[in-house]
Amino acid sequence: MDSILACDGWDSAKQEMGEATITAVVREVVQAWRSEIQAGTLDAPGLQERLERCALRDDVEQRLAIERRRGVVPAINVSGVVLNTGLGRAPVHPEVAERMVAAAAGYCVLEVDRDSGQRNQRDQRLGELLGRLTGAEAGIAVNNNAAAVLLLMQTFAKGREAIVSRGELVEIGGSFRVPDVLESAGARLVAVGATNRTRIADFKAAVVKETGLLLKVHTSNFRVVGFTEEVSAEELAELGQDKQITSAWDLGSGCLEAPNAKSLHGVGDETPLREAVASGVDVVTFSGDKLLGAPQAGLLVGEKHAIAALRKCPMYRALRLDKVGLAGLEATCELLLAGRGNEIPTRAMLCMDPAETRERCEEIQGLLKGMSGLTVEVAASQSQPGSGSAPTAALDTFSLQLNLQSSSPAAFSEALRRSEPPVFARVQEDRVWIDPRTLLEGQTPQLIAAIGQAIESLDF
Ligand SMILES: *Cc1c(COP(=O)(O)O)cnc(C)c1O
Repeated sequence: MDSILACDGWDSAKQEMGEATITAVVREVVQAWRSEIQAGTLDAPGLQERLERCALRDDVEQRLAIERRRGVVPAINVSGVVLNTGLGRAPVHPEVAERMVAAAAGYCVLEVDRDSGQRNQRDQRLGELLGRLTGAEAGIAVNNNAAAVLLLMQTFAKGREAIVSRGELVEIGGSFRVPDVLESAGARLVAVGATNRTRIADFKAAVVKETGLLLKVHTSNFRVVGFTEEVSAEELAELGQDKQITSAWDLGSGCLEAPNAKSLHGVGDETPLREAVASGVDVVTFSGDKLLGAPQAGLLVGEKHAIAALRKCPMYRALRLDKVGLAGLEATCELLLAGRGNEIPTRAMLCMDPAETRERCEEIQGLLKGMSGLTVEVAASQSQPGSGSAPTAALDTFSLQLNLQSSSPAAFSEALRRSEPPVFARVQEDRVWIDPRTLLEGQTPQLIAAIGQAIESLDF
């Protein structure tokens, strides 16, 4: 290793990426060769031949090229999934992004009151903005909705019992299972009802002195259909009030109806936030980066006394939102309050008329004309909201079906992911599908260039 690294020629790479990275990459290549020797696929003459044509250097260069483009880098989403978790869920409004950059790059007024100079709460203003948008008395923000649910359980059910309907003991994805979260919060789960039917009488019968929380959970990407019955939030709230027990609703997607903004009601049958708050439950939790179209966050809104209790929980300190996320959330709420909700990228994408997706397809089809070996057709298909938001909703759309003469759709879509910027399309019915609904402003030329690069890389 030392003698390889002592060779000259690595200097510019070392300067660019640092010695530790170059050392790690060289070590990987040497290890790969060693494995070949151990497996018997590389013998002494073969090794000699490789060393003579400087293959080690080539292999290292190749890995360095991969290393250079790893990490959290911008990508083009044409997968047809608007809130694509693999691609970072909601892209924020440019003005929101600006505020986030400003908060990250400098000092900001975070936990101090500008007028009095006194220390205050970092999410006080956000809570007020959320209150104006949802009708709630107060609000508080944590890292994501999983954290919000954890905080909720820690605060109201630690060392006590939480009652949940059997039909709502779901896994939301990424191993976030309601029963497991309850357990790790130190709460005892009391499951009531049957998978398909639960009534308020089931909850009533389960209430004991140790009950700390009555919880309703949105089942996200899971649906029970047919002979079903669920307990309404109103019923749960009433029971909670009657027995002096906190009631809460994990709403998940956070569908918000805002002034002057197109309704998201066409996007599945999500309960709007305002309605959830008006149901009377003490706390409603939802994600920042789902239907709200804001940065990643978990938001809890509801009754003043319940939010105050959440704030007092020691776990809040570990879960609270950072300054960059807070700046982005405040800015998003301000846009919504100012009647500019239609400008929020994910809302615009979710509400986009199929006719516009068709126009976008035709424009791209025109720009792709003449690329060698490529056939492009425009066809009706469907986009998805994604991230468990409105799971049964599909949005009518038009997509481009791409077929490359010389390559399989799998190879073509891989080449697209390796382009600059990486393009994430969908493979279906032996074609590569490009759904332009999720293209951001000004990305079309980048998309065309990336498709060109992908085709070129496959021609070699
Ligand atoms: C998405 C979702 C979560 C998890 O939210 P994150 O913001 O991804 O942590 C929890 N509960 C429900 C009902 C959800 O839909």
